[in-house]
Amino acid sequence: MKHQPPPPPLPLTQPPMMGGTSGGAVANAISSLNGGSSYTNNNTNNNNNNGIEAVKCRPPLYPKPKTPSFDKDRDYIGFATLPEQVHRKSVKRGFEFTLMVVGESGLGKSTLINSLFLGDLYKNRQMPNVEERIEKTTKVEKKTMDIEERGVRLRLTVVDTPGFGDAINCEDSWRVCTQYIDEQFRQYFTDESGLNRRNIQDNRVHCCLYFVPPWGHSLRQMDLDLIRRLHRKVNIVLVIGKADCLNKQEVRKLKERILQDLEDNHIQLYQFPECDSDEDEDFKQQDRELKASIPFAVVGSNTILEVAGKKVRGRQYPWGVVNVEDPEHSDFIKLRTFLISTHMQDLKDTTQDVHYENFRAQCISQISQHALRERGKLKRDSISSTNGFDAAISETDRLLLQKDEEIRRMQDMLTQMQEKLKQTHLMEMKKNDSVIDV
Ligand code: GDP
Repeated sequence: MKHQPPPPPLPLTQPPMMGGTSGGAVANAISSLNGGSSYTNNNTNNNNNNGIEAVKCRPPLYPKPKTPSFDKDRDYIGFATLPEQVHRKSVKRGFEFTLMVVGESGLGKSTLINSLFLGDLYKNRQMPNVEERIEKTTKVEKKTMDIEERGVRLRLTVVDTPGFGDAINCEDSWRVCTQYIDEQFRQYFTDESGLNRRNIQDNRVHCCLYFVPPWGHSLRQMDLDLIRRLHRKVNIVLVIGKADCLNKQEVRKLKERILQDLEDNHIQLYQFPECDSDEDEDFKQQDRELKASIPFAVVGSNTILEVAGKKVRGRQYPWGVVNVEDPEHSDFIKLRTFLISTHMQDLKDTTQDVHYENFRAQCISQISQHALRERGKLKRDSISSTNGFDAAISETDRLLLQKDEEIRRMQDMLTQMQEKLKQTHLMEMKKNDSVIDV
């Protein structure tokens, strides 16, 4: 039988080639300036996402998939459209992604997030003064933004931790982060075990961008403390902020030392999945470059400058311009490619299959241990009550026991009577036999 599959579905986004300024999912969103993507944002500290609505600037570019004509081709079964069905359903449902950003103030976190997603998530931000910072405790702030690109909707939630590492005593900075991540897992576990599982809101953190300062020689004790506590709960991706403070050699050295520190402390950050052998060579090359760039050394900017007649996102210095999107200047494009165009789904899958499963297994083991302890307690209680049997036994129990005893006696009597009857019957038979003999 000859099957003629329909044309393969169009990819959601074309993976961009690194180094360019125009490729990629949200890279294409740069064209939002002229209508490519649209987004609205909602800054919120109280998980209230009401009022978020995405403005559609352009109709979806995806053509409607062809429905097979059964008259034309009778040998056609039709399952080759399965990817299209999945694709259509996912596009309709939209996508969600939660990104946590951790690092001390002034490392360029908000600038980078705004540059990555071409939004302004930090409009109403208030900077604490020095006195406030001494006492400052770490908070968790959630900001949500709806982005739409070529008919694909993404609800992006950025979880910020203002105040992280700012106070003199930073001991509890990591506790706020771990508690938040655990709380989202717990909520999901509760929702998943509930009755209405259809509309579960997934607030689990899919990726944590941890900002390391460019000053210093490697990771600090407080960085290690936090990463050690988080690396089994969330996909951590290290980012060296404000990398324009370092020259090429310094960036290379800092990256080497950070990787060495992680290895010495047995810390495993997010592991890139292996590339399939049948992937094309360009994709494999891109994957190799991304892996080699970790930790990403980034420069952020929300300013568009004109360099040699071209508009670039950059930072103007007396001696020249740092082009944020130039791979020679920073790993910004690599980070964006990794985070949005190539590995967003894998980050979500790892959260579900590894981190959430770990949490779920721990929860189930705690619940069963608790049940075992309760059963042991009940058993011990019933043994101790048996010891004081006579005192504690109820009247009903006593009556039941009496009845049991009576039934047992009657059964004994019945057995004896049956035995007697049998013997009488045998004697009768013998008597009859002797009469016949005569
Ligand atoms: P946050 O407190 O970590 O969110 O840091 P901000 O994004 O508010 O940035 C703090 C200051 O650093 C601002 O003046 C930014 O313009 C500047 N800044 C942001 N990113 C960079 C960068 O990559 N390089 C340099 N040199 N400065 C930056």
